[in-house]
Amino acid sequence: MDACLFCKLVQGEIPAKTVYEDDQVMAFHDINPQAPTHVLVIPKAHVASMAEVTDPMLAGIVMVKAAEIARQLGVEEGGYRLVANTGAGAGQTVFHLHVHILAGRPLHWPPG
Ligand code: 5GP
Ligand code: ZN
Repeated sequence: MDACLFCKLVQGEIPAKTVYEDDQVMAFHDINPQAPTHVLVIPKAHVASMAEVTDPMLAGIVMVKAAEIARQLGVEEGGYRLVANTGAGAGQTVFHLHVHILAGRPLHWPPG
């Protein structure tokens, strides 16, 4: 997936404000933050979206890491939201699986 934006970010071809990295996942600040804390957690291996995930471990790792990173960022106590927009109709614009961590302001329900 040479053309994939987040694969390029994993490869270091595009700079990122990385907050966490291991051999399986990477987390970095969103370039256009929608909340005081807005971090994206991605698997390093290319998967287009949750709809394409076949390995339950992969989805689990991304979600559990997102919770760990939220704790490290200090937003656990105030609450945070994990979002995986899936498909263009749901607002997905980058087709490499990512989980948004949103925190630091009131998060209304239902989301827009
Ligand atoms: P989606 O709309 O697909 O759920 O989320 C994609 C997110 O990626 C958006 O919040 C957008 O601001 C972010 N984004 C797009 N391009 C870049 C980039 O080059 N660097 C970073 N850090 N975030 C990006
Ligand atoms: Zn990719």
